[in-house]
Amino acid sequence: TISLPKGALYLIHKLEQKGEAYVVGGCVRDALRGVVPHDWDLCTSETPQQMLELFQDERVLKTGLKHGTVTVLLPDGAYEVTTYRVDGAYSDGRHPDHVTFTGCITEDLARRDFTINAMAYHPHRGLLDPFGGAQDLQDRQIRAVGDADKRFEEDSLRILRGLRFASTLRFTISPDCSASVHRNKELLNRVSKERIQVELSKMLLGDGVKEILLAYPDVLTQIIPSIEPMIGFEQRSAYHCFDVWEHTAHAVACAAKDPIVRWTMLFHDMGKPACFSEAEGVGHFYGHPAKSAAMAHDALRDLRMDHDTIRKVVQLVELHDLPLPQTERDVKRLLNRLGESQFYRLIEVRRADILAQTSSYRQERIAQADRALSRMQKVIEEGQCFSVGDLAVNGRDILAAGIPAGPEVGNMLHYLLELVMDQAVSNDRQCLLEEVQRKMRRIKR
Ligand code: ATP
Ligand code: MG
Repeated sequence: TISLPKGALYLIHKLEQKGEAYVVGGCVRDALRGVVPHDWDLCTSETPQQMLELFQDERVLKTGLKHGTVTVLLPDGAYEVTTYRVDGAYSDGRHPDHVTFTGCITEDLARRDFTINAMAYHPHRGLLDPFGGAQDLQDRQIRAVGDADKRFEEDSLRILRGLRFASTLRFTISPDCSASVHRNKELLNRVSKERIQVELSKMLLGDGVKEILLAYPDVLTQIIPSIEPMIGFEQRSAYHCFDVWEHTAHAVACAAKDPIVRWTMLFHDMGKPACFSEAEGVGHFYGHPAKSAAMAHDALRDLRMDHDTIRKVVQLVELHDLPLPQTERDVKRLLNRLGESQFYRLIEVRRADILAQTSSYRQERIAQADRALSRMQKVIEEGQCFSVGDLAVNGRDILAAGIPAGPEVGNMLHYLLELVMDQAVSNDRQCLLEEVQRKMRRIKR
């Protein structure tokens, strides 16, 4: 049995004064897996109009009235309630042309994408599972409801949803469904880049992402053509015994579950094939981080990724091979350049990259990354100064000391920052102002 939250029980009780209602979809799947659902969706035989009447004393948002959905705000959370519906034809492979409401829950379950998502549950009547979702959950398997080809034809985003669920749940895709994914991947061309990006981001965060990247490289290149050269490209270097794509898949899966870090790992070596040259039987990839960063930029732009994420990923790809700072002084310089969270991510990126290699120096290189990390944490904990904003003086003080307004003010602040970071001067207002005077005297002379 599944124990429902108060709000869901209340809504079912209320809806069943007239009609019929269940909790449905992702929450049933997650509850049966023993995972606490992040939200509880309901479905009902009541029409949207009937729901609005029934809930006139509640706070209701008309989130998707045309599609039969209202959101009811209750003390323990927001609940989406949707009228049982049968989706009309999807002539563009994206949106149903129209939806038809129905009084039959089985018809509603039949329009859902995968069997594990096509179950409903009622506190008295129990589980409704016409497509064998519970068995597939046991078998840890993603299977389309009905004929996979037809379902992917109706809505091609389902191809990626399948990979996403396989990744996040660590499930496999059933043989039929998997063959259909490969067969229909070109249909992804008609799905908007934004929606693709959203699914891909979720997929990258899954525990099973390595297996998916390795099993469906063709689907990935369908969406991001520029990753194609990585697939099957042998590294021929001391650190690797995998091809670039295998290394990439490992690296993504090893990395912290931060979307920026995972996107970075996906792209960190993408420029390698284009930069490959061979000398004395050993492969070299001169300049590949810059090339990879440029390619990552274009790929993310194409996926309509937000600018902030693009900037951060590109920066990390660009720097991912840089020797990590080993002195406190260099840590502060890098902190100044990257900021705290990007610094932290760079360490994460390095750690994932090393873990996905077969270097004999692995232990040592991980220890190096850990040392850089603990030096960074020490700098932060001690409240040490690593940016102009941390200085005990500001631009106004510099002006007051007699530096004319203009770029010289910023230059002076940076000069002071260098001194403080090198511990040549302490970050004390009086000391810094004296340094300003000293420097001005030197300039005059
Ligand atoms: P989560 O919210 O944990 O990512 P979910 O299963 O709740 O997973 P949603 O995208 O919130 O996924 O969708 C809710 C339900 O609606 C799904 O469980 C599924 O039954 C159905 N559904 C969502 N998108 C589609 C689709 N493209 N085609 C068919 N059914 C879908
Ligand atoms: Mg959901």
